[in-house]
Amino acid sequence: MMLCETQPRTVIPDAIPITINSPVTLEKPSNEPDFFEKFIVEPGTRVKLNEIDPSYKGKYESEAQALPAVSALLQTIDTLHYVMHAEKKNSLLIVLQGMDAGGKDGVVRRIVTGVNPAGCRVIGFKQPTAEELKHDFLWRVHQHVPGKGEVVIFNRSHYEDVLVVRVHQLAPAHVYSKRYDTINNFEQLLMQENDTMVLKFLLHISKEEQLMRFKHRLEDPTRRWKVSESDYKEREYWDDYIKAFEDMLHRTSTRHAPWFVIPSNHKWFRDLAVSQIIMRTLEDLNMKIPAPAVDIARIRNRYHAAELKAKAS
Ligand code: ATP
Ligand code: MG
Repeated sequence: MMLCETQPRTVIPDAIPITINSPVTLEKPSNEPDFFEKFIVEPGTRVKLNEIDPSYKGKYESEAQALPAVSALLQTIDTLHYVMHAEKKNSLLIVLQGMDAGGKDGVVRRIVTGVNPAGCRVIGFKQPTAEELKHDFLWRVHQHVPGKGEVVIFNRSHYEDVLVVRVHQLAPAHVYSKRYDTINNFEQLLMQENDTMVLKFLLHISKEEQLMRFKHRLEDPTRRWKVSESDYKEREYWDDYIKAFEDMLHRTSTRHAPWFVIPSNHKWFRDLAVSQIIMRTLEDLNMKIPAPAVDIARIRNRYHAAELKAKAS
């Protein structure tokens, strides 16, 4: 398991107005397509991944064209996250799944560099340890969910227990098939007990794009550390993963914890779509900067007294 946490930063972007003790009001980008509606897996529906174009890029022609929109979204997310951190009422869990080289690390980098690191954690889930395997599959997961005011990103997640576990039959069908309901109950618990919204992103790339990214990893000395034999082994199971993804989407996309299938062949479009969906979700929480817990007038008097004393000395 990987844990990455950085130190607090206390800068609020000046460009975006925050009103004290009232909902945050932000300027909405005009003419922006609503990727939340476009890419959500409606609860109960069954998607066919081969019918979703992984190269989709909407109205954008290039990275350069999309970049201003991504920057604006990240700035807004940063502000909303600041309010979430101050209010300590809601929390957000972002789940990233996808094939090897699907871009999970890239999304993490984008989102984490965009937000105030205070109250933001990234957790990566690898093969379970011997200790973890002695417990139920959610044991190692539950301890990392966000507390009030926090955003947590899962780079792979409890969904591996209905994906890799199913594809490689690491558990019998009667065991992993019950996990869909268990996961839904778990995510509902997070919402009911702790106001935790869960957003789940399946980063959808084509098989050709994956091979191209493997090639880049081989050719680029700065990326070679990522090369792994298991990537090629897993690629052989592509169709099985697609089936496992489709069942996962069908069984576990819910109102409080929806799945989104994000066309991810274009990294910049992936970042745009994911950040817009996160922004909209945070915005819909109607968060407020809380009123000060102390008597500001009294503290101001103390400040003035200290200022006078400092000037006198
Ligand atoms: P990249 O996309 O850059 O290769 P990664 O997420 O694949 O990154 P790796 O260290 O290559 O990271 O692989 C982690 C492995 O751990 C994956 O193959 C994943 O399927 C496996 N894994 C995660 N959770 C479980 C689980 N519950 N049971 C079995 N395997 C798991
Ligand atoms: Mg890997």
